[in-house]
Amino acid sequence: MYYNSTRNKSIRLTATEAILKGLSDDGGLFVPEYIPKMDIDLKTLSEMDYRQVAYEIMRLYIDDLSKEELMNCIENAYGENFDTPEMAPLTYADGSYYLELFHGPTIAFKDMALQILPHLMTASARKNRIDKKIVILTATSGDTGKAAMAGFADVPDTKIMVFYPHGGVSDVQRLQMVTQKGNNVSAVSVDGNFDDCQSGVKAIFADADFKKEIDGMGYQFSSANSINIGRLVPQIVYYVYAYCTLLRNEKISAGEEINICVPTGNFGNILAAYLAKKMGLPVNKLVCASNMNNVLTDFFTEGRYDRLRDFHLTMSPSMDILISSNLERLIYFICGNDDKRTGELMKALSKDGAYAIDDKMKEGLSDFTAEYATEEETLKEIKRVYDDTGYVIDTHTAVASAVARKVGDLGDHPMIIASTASPFKFARSIVLAIDPKTDHKDQDDMSMIDELKSLTGLEEPMAIKEVRGADIRHNGHIKINEMKETVRNFLR
Ligand SMILES: *Cc1c(COP(=O)(O)O)cnc(C)c1O
Repeated sequence: MYYNSTRNKSIRLTATEAILKGLSDDGGLFVPEYIPKMDIDLKTLSEMDYRQVAYEIMRLYIDDLSKEELMNCIENAYGENFDTPEMAPLTYADGSYYLELFHGPTIAFKDMALQILPHLMTASARKNRIDKKIVILTATSGDTGKAAMAGFADVPDTKIMVFYPHGGVSDVQRLQMVTQKGNNVSAVSVDGNFDDCQSGVKAIFADADFKKEIDGMGYQFSSANSINIGRLVPQIVYYVYAYCTLLRNEKISAGEEINICVPTGNFGNILAAYLAKKMGLPVNKLVCASNMNNVLTDFFTEGRYDRLRDFHLTMSPSMDILISSNLERLIYFICGNDDKRTGELMKALSKDGAYAIDDKMKEGLSDFTAEYATEEETLKEIKRVYDDTGYVIDTHTAVASAVARKVGDLGDHPMIIASTASPFKFARSIVLAIDPKTDHKDQDDMSMIDELKSLTGLEEPMAIKEVRGADIRHNGHIKINEMKETVRNFLR
């Protein structure tokens, strides 16, 4: 299996090369030359555990690692660090199946990929005879930073430094980062906003002299951001696994179709579901769920992508995105792997803020349905599901849940709703939804978590227990222009 850039098909890399590189030099994203078909029947797969399913799917995309090397990555990633041996359990509530992707160390779905990416990277480095240690620099607005730290913590031959805006993340997010254990991790707050952190990291990556300097120290930079195929491929696994769970529990028969609804931001999670469908998983519709930042809803209904619109801060912050990077891969697939056309459309997006696709390409969107939920609809959905069933869903999941209800009849198929975060991660909004009469304005995040526990009787997850009273390990606080020096000191 080789990988091309979405903007230049003459670029051709092996899987491990693409994982190490992250993004193509021409700005394109790496895509497999063809979408492989599953070569094991679903019945057989349904008798396997999560790790075995992961192997059977991932080997089709990452074929330059040996069975032993890939299995090692999988076993290191999906084990005791998850709070259930199923990794991604299905919970039935109110007529739908919630696919819980938040049982990893940071109680959000990014763990599904970020727990394995560090292992794929070090295996890829070995495969390509790179003897340097890998250094990950990440700018974060909260969630990704912690998930990346947790993933790379104590992984041999790697180091990770996370920059977050001082005063710009929630109490829980900050505590999760500054208490992260591991001898190779660090988190630093920066006097600036998220964009300042991001620009600072980009400037360091682009600094040729600095690269040479750290090369001399035995290091090379890499990036853990969400367009790395090492994050995309592991996300296909849980959709196949969810189908197999339904099959094993005799909720469906082999070959019967399901619908999948995904709360979408950067379009990574739902693209993985699309790949699962194209690989042969029996899926009727993929439902793309957005919050008020509904640029994708318009794209799927009108065939026009237009990011020039108001940006809304919502209670589902991980979906507050106006440029969904991974959509570029779908564009490439639906225009028949046309790199020129994809490049033109992406250029139009950066120059004019918009592009439109032709009728032929629109046909390729027929796998999808799209809708969005307002803030009020999201709160109502949390309350409705809780009142009817006692099941507590987070704000992102609630967007998908409300949308699954709104899109109407998609045939008589079971609906799987991707549940992307634990309600404890967004306790304030959940309490507000379930108990709207009480005013909690002056309460801090931790007391909102206590409130959620006493309201619902839910047990607090390990990730929350751990931050209570944990030692602060990372208290660096720097100015924007001190980022490079901070990295240098970290590597010394
Ligand atoms: C990142 C994230 C999403 C959006 O996923 P994409 O792959 O960016 O579409 C949804 N919910 C939560 C909780 C997230 O962290």
